[in-house]
Amino acid sequence: MDLSSYTVMVVEDHDFQRRMTLQMLKDMGAGVLLEAANGRAALSLLVDRGEPVDIIFCDLDMPEMDGVEFISHVAQDQLAQSIAVISAMEISILNTVETMAKAYGLQVLGTISKPFDLHELTRCVANFQPKGIALEASHAGAEFNVEDLKRGLKEREFLTFFQPKVSFATGEVEGVEALVRWFRPGYGVITPFHFIRQMELEGLVTPLTEVLLTQTCGYLKAWARRGHVMTASVNISMHCLEDVSIADRLHDLVKESGCDPKQIILEVTETEVMIDVAKVLNVLARLRLKGFGLSIDDFGTGYSSLQQLSNVPFTELKIDQSFVKDSPTQARHRTIIETSLDLAHKLKLKTVAEGVESRAEWDLLKSLECQQAQGYFVARPMPGHQIPEWIQMWQAPEEA
Ligand code: C2E
Ligand code: MG
Ligand code: MG
Repeated sequence: MDLSSYTVMVVEDHDFQRRMTLQMLKDMGAGVLLEAANGRAALSLLVDRGEPVDIIFCDLDMPEMDGVEFISHVAQDQLAQSIAVISAMEISILNTVETMAKAYGLQVLGTISKPFDLHELTRCVANFQPKGIALEASHAGAEFNVEDLKRGLKEREFLTFFQPKVSFATGEVEGVEALVRWFRPGYGVITPFHFIRQMELEGLVTPLTEVLLTQTCGYLKAWARRGHVMTASVNISMHCLEDVSIADRLHDLVKESGCDPKQIILEVTETEVMIDVAKVLNVLARLRLKGFGLSIDDFGTGYSSLQQLSNVPFTELKIDQSFVKDSPTQARHRTIIETSLDLAHKLKLKTVAEGVESRAEWDLLKSLECQQAQGYFVARPMPGHQIPEWIQMWQAPEEA
């Protein structure tokens, strides 16, 4: 492949490795060569340039800004046509990077293990297909059908993001909620609102939940290795709970992933799909017996009603964000929150406020003795690898 009309960038913190890669590319006739020692430096070079480069060779494990974050910026801001990843990292992280990149229309030329040779470099370059950069923004609402969803599952395009849940009293991070995102090639990131219902109707939500639970267990173990032991909440549609074998399957899956069901809280979400209530109650009871925590999500809306509380052995109640919103100024919202907290307290349920967006909401819910906060005021959902770094940075607000 003739590289003379292309611009190639090498992002690598290791001096010797970077110089070696640049020399190989030079020998291959690369037109313009750019280099940077970390993601942050590379990004500012790219932004200053104002024009996308053709190929980026990028290490993943770098100081300042790691390669995963760098690639997600490059992809979202369309700063390059293609990337090749140089890394000694585990395959699951590489898959995540590849899926993210593809969703934004970035060509992924391949991964090069370290130490790499000319042969591997040539293989990646040969995969490059020059084309104009697709500049249209990602449109989440674009049409898709059941085949797209099935293919997405098969190609591992569904990834979980994680949003921290912190203690109002101590500020400590006690858990995260897993929230699915569809990294659809050429369409960017699609949020669950656009596809969960269709997956429920097509019977795909159970396989999806299994995929996400596996990813979640993988991260729980990775975080624990870095000293962060916590719980993870996974949303489970009522639709999954109609299958009587699901309790055993989820239990086995968690055990096989090297985790304990006690680390997992299943958030039961509302559904418009008709369900068999008796079966669902049976399955919920069995999940609880196996050690899973059970949370009633979006409390106060739709199906999430008092009746469920009396029938299901819930361990947690999540106050819906619609009540948290504006609670400092809306007396009615505040009353509903107070009543919900009182009820949860009497039933010995853990209480979580979701959608905490402001300091005023934080202060109010804390004063009402709600136990955990989740919301943009604390953090937005983020990829799993960013959680340990976020925990280092996080500081709960000082006492008012
Ligand atoms: P949810 O379980 O109630 O999750 C909370 C939603 O609120 C998330 O939206 C989260 O990103 C958003 N959120 C968190 N904090 C704030 C805030 O401060 N302000 C605002 N405005 N929003 C906030 P997301 O990720 O779009 O998920 C929407 C819903 O999709 C979830 O609501 C859940 O019902 C469903 N969902 C997500 N992942 C899964 C899944 O893996 N399986 C199933 N069955 N449903 C899922
Ligand atoms: Mg939830
Ligand atoms: Mg909710």
